[in-house]
Formats: sequence, C-alpha cells, structure tokens
Amino acid sequence: LVVRYPSGTIFDRLKGAPGEVTVLDGVSIAVEAGETLGLVGESGSGKTTLGRAIAGLAPLSGGKIALAGDTVTSRRDRAWKTLRRNVGFMFQDPVAALDPRMRLSSAITEPLAVDAGLLHPISGRKRRRRARELLAEVGLTSDFADRFPHQVSGGQARRVTVARALAMRPKLVIADEPTAGLDLSVQGELLNLLNAIQAADDISFLFITHNLAVARHVTHRVAVMYLGRIVETAPTKTLFSDPAHPYTHALLNAHSPGKPATRLKGEAPSLKIRPTGCEFHTRCPIARDICRREAPPARELGASHTVRCHFPRGHEDLHVEREAKAA
Ligand code: SF4
Repeated sequence: LVVRYPSGTIFDRLKGAPGEVTVLDGVSIAVEAGETLGLVGESGSGKTTLGRAIAGLAPLSGGKIALAGDTVTSRRDRAWKTLRRNVGFMFQDPVAALDPRMRLSSAITEPLAVDAGLLHPISGRKRRRRARELLAEVGLTSDFADRFPHQVSGGQARRVTVARALAMRPKLVIADEPTAGLDLSVQGELLNLLNAIQAADDISFLFITHNLAVARHVTHRVAVMYLGRIVETAPTKTLFSDPAHPYTHALLNAHSPGKPATRLKGEAPSLKIRPTGCEFHTRCPIARDICRREAPPARELGASHTVRCHFPRGHEDLHVEREAKAA
C-alpha cells in the first residue's frame, strides 16, 4: 500500500521537499482469519494511517486491499462498500469519535444506517433492537442505549466504540490504541472483552499500539513500523525473545527497565525528506556504508519472521564488542 498526502508550505519546497509526503511507502501486510496482528512503532511511524487505509478511511495512492475475495484499489471500486462492511474501526479517542448530541443507540448503529443509505432506511425500532444486542455483547446494559457520550466513563465509552465497530458483523476489526488512557484494571477488562469477542466470532484484529507490554500479551504476531515501512514481522514470542532489526531491539530495550539500553540517536527523520538507503541509518548504532547507499530488501529469517536490514541481529555483535571493551 502507498499513501501520499499533499505537502505543506512553500518553505518546504524551497528546502527541496517534494510536493507530497509519502506516509506509507510500499507496506505489505496480511492478517489471517482469527488472528491478532500487532502493529507497533513510534508516534508518526504510520500505524494509524495504515489502519485507516485498510479500513477504507484513507485514500490509497497505490496498491490494493484484498478481503474475502474482493480487491479494492480506490473508493470508486464497487467492492469498497463491501470493504467498509467487513472492516470495523475502533478510533483512538472514543469520546471524540462519538457525536456528543447523539444517543449511544444511534451512534452504535450509525454504520448500519450509512450502509443502508437513504433508499432503504432502517426503522428506528430495528436500530434500537440491534443497539441493545451490541451493548449486551460488550457487557453494557440496555439502558446505555438512551445515554449521551458525556454520561459514560472512559472505559464504558471504549466498550461503546467496540459495539459500534461490531455493528456490521465485520471480519476484521482495527483497534487504534484501544487501551490508551485507561487505568490498568479497565485495560485488562477491555482486553478480556476483545479476546472473548475474537474467540466467539473468529474475528481478526489489527491491534495498533505503542504499548509493547499489551502487544506482547494480546497478539499472535507483531509488525514493527518505522517511517511508513514495516521493518520486521515475527510471531510475538520470537519478536520479543529474538528481535532481528536494530530498531525493534531499541524499542524493546526502551520499554524494558533494568536492561542496558541501546540508545536511539536523535529524532525520527521528517517524512518530507527521507534518508537515502536504509531509512533507519541516521539513528542506527551499527550502520555501515552500504546502509547509507542501498535500501535493504526483505529477508526471511525463519517461520513468519521477516526483516528489512542488511545486518539482521548485528546489534548482538555490538554488545559483544562493548562487553569485550568493558572487560
Ligand atoms: Fe541499521 Fe544498516 Fe540494518 Fe538499516 S540496514 S537497520 S542502518 S544495520
């Protein structure tokens, strides 16, 4: 998938930046039926844009989305409506995602109404019945149907967004930072709920998070994003025990108190002026000349383990060198 957006100011152009920004650069990703695929990376790495593109909420500049036998390349495709039906989206900020003037029953069933359109509107009674069913599925009583968003807690609002994402009985749910801002006990309840929904309906999840502990707990596989590209994909256990990309290694260390940290040099570069060769070379502790010249191809390291690096697991040599110097 490729997603580009028009780029900003005349100053950017004067600095040599192109007239558009490539936010997703040839990302290829597959989610199996009943699987939870985690998508991790720093802010601005393109996680949310990828989720939105798969859900048909961000226009594609290139590539395609294949789902249940249909292929979509743009909103003009007939199959785009099928895609929208089959992919539910849980927005990052549940309160902002819900219209404050809309009762929860209407908010939850809005995807049904939009899908039916003006020609075949759904009756109010049918919408309310479906809203009550969906509320029950997410563990909320039917009296929530008549409430407004400001009358529920953060955890309850998150459950409402789950109900809304399930309204069309989707095959895939994209959960964008579903646990952000929740305290630990509410996080646990929500994760158990998503787990139960997946077990009952065999739904696939694309789980976007910056919280690696949560990703480790709930996912089957994890894809790591850097600057609009996937740099490593692996089964969750493998990724956490044997990361091959220096960026994955640094991310894990940054989230593991007590371990010697691999320092990431500087900030992530601007999407407007991408580094040559491997785009991580400006921050990579083991970058060599070839990294600055040539983009690394994807390499298979094992079952479902793919990495884009000229020197996968090269950070291990770095530690050996450091230990030798220290001795
Ligand atoms: Fe680092 Fe080179 Fe691998 Fe990029 S290709 S991550 S710069 S070692």
